[in-house]
Amino acid sequence: MKYQSFLIKYAEIGTKGKNRYMFEDTLMKQIRRALEAVDGEFEVTKESGRIYVTGNGSYDDDDVIEALKRVFGIADICPMVQIEDRDYENLKKAVVEYMDQVYPDKNLTFKVAARRADKHYPIGSEQMNRDLGEVILEAFPQMKVDVHHPDVLLRVEVRQKVNLFSEMIPGPGGMPVGTNGKAMLLLSGGIDSPVAGYMIAKRGVVLDAVYFHAPPYTSERAKQKVVDLANLVARYAGPINLYVVNFTDIQLHIYESCPHEELTIIMRRYMMRIAQKLAEDAGAMGLITGESIGQVASQTLQSLAATNDVCTMPVFRPVIGFDKQEIIDLSEKIGTYETSIQPYEDCCTIFVAKHPVTRPNINVIRSSEKRLGEKMEELVREALNTTERILCQGR
Ligand code: ATP
Ligand code: MG
Repeated sequence: MKYQSFLIKYAEIGTKGKNRYMFEDTLMKQIRRALEAVDGEFEVTKESGRIYVTGNGSYDDDDVIEALKRVFGIADICPMVQIEDRDYENLKKAVVEYMDQVYPDKNLTFKVAARRADKHYPIGSEQMNRDLGEVILEAFPQMKVDVHHPDVLLRVEVRQKVNLFSEMIPGPGGMPVGTNGKAMLLLSGGIDSPVAGYMIAKRGVVLDAVYFHAPPYTSERAKQKVVDLANLVARYAGPINLYVVNFTDIQLHIYESCPHEELTIIMRRYMMRIAQKLAEDAGAMGLITGESIGQVASQTLQSLAATNDVCTMPVFRPVIGFDKQEIIDLSEKIGTYETSIQPYEDCCTIFVAKHPVTRPNINVIRSSEKRLGEKMEELVREALNTTERILCQGR
């Protein structure tokens, strides 16, 4: 525990004016939530357009930083040492101590950038830059000053306390979850959909999720994998309500009534319809999928159009233009990859035809669906009535 507090820098504030407060307050709320999982006590405060996290008692700096790196809306995390005694001689000592502790390897160039935010402080910032630079050079002769491209830019801010900081750890960027409404993620056990959920949550959107389960064709273990993925995404996105829909009877009915090469498309259309109904009930304003153009037969432009045909809500497909490898890279970065590649079947693999249509004609699909009759409406109602809800809190 080297640091007493962390200065949180945020970059993008979507809409200005009154919404700035909403942005900041939501960011503070999300920071508090993320820190609940960290051992220690933390205070999150706002002061003249800045957010601080201050620790009480003992905690591990790295744990705090890891948690903050998952809070959307944070551009940078600056770990700080705060000095209460502003006496100039004491400040000099503290600066030397800071450089010693934070940089065990003294072979570096530095620059001091002092700011006197409290104008009552008797020493000016230029004077501080010179004096503090000098005491550092005296204490550590290996260090050198470089005013243009220093390895270390030591910031000294004189306020009611003095803040010392030099490290800047990148946050995830984006906007705080809760500033941009809610959307429903179609979450399968694959690689793509958790990444898609992450990307939309990063824009400040609260997530709910839906998983279509087909027991006994898909196992409990396959469902558990999706719950695990929802929990991994929730580490960034905050609590996710995961709706688990029993899709077996619907799939069997499609299998018995429709041409087999159209099964996947018709099944996907029913997934979208049900997801949309759940979204409406949950107050979500859009659907999210992990589709990417051309990746499989059901993701050609014609297939996407046929699937989209049943949606009245906007469907967000954030990985639509990504190559598989780009999606994999992102899933590794956010920590979902290892879980996604566990070998449990997902419901699509059971009923897939040998030669699915790759260029479905919407009119043909619509007329095939007519064969499903009223029985389908009943099955959809039944599926909605028996939907299970699992709260995934990310821990
Ligand atoms: P993923 O890696 O996300 O599973 P995929 O490459 O396997 O995607 P498809 O199986 O064609 O692609 O599914 C496309 C999208 O449809 C998925 O990204 C997901 O959003 C949704 N989806 C597919 N199967 C299910 C399911 N069983 N439950 C919920 N959503 C699903
Ligand atoms: Mg899949």
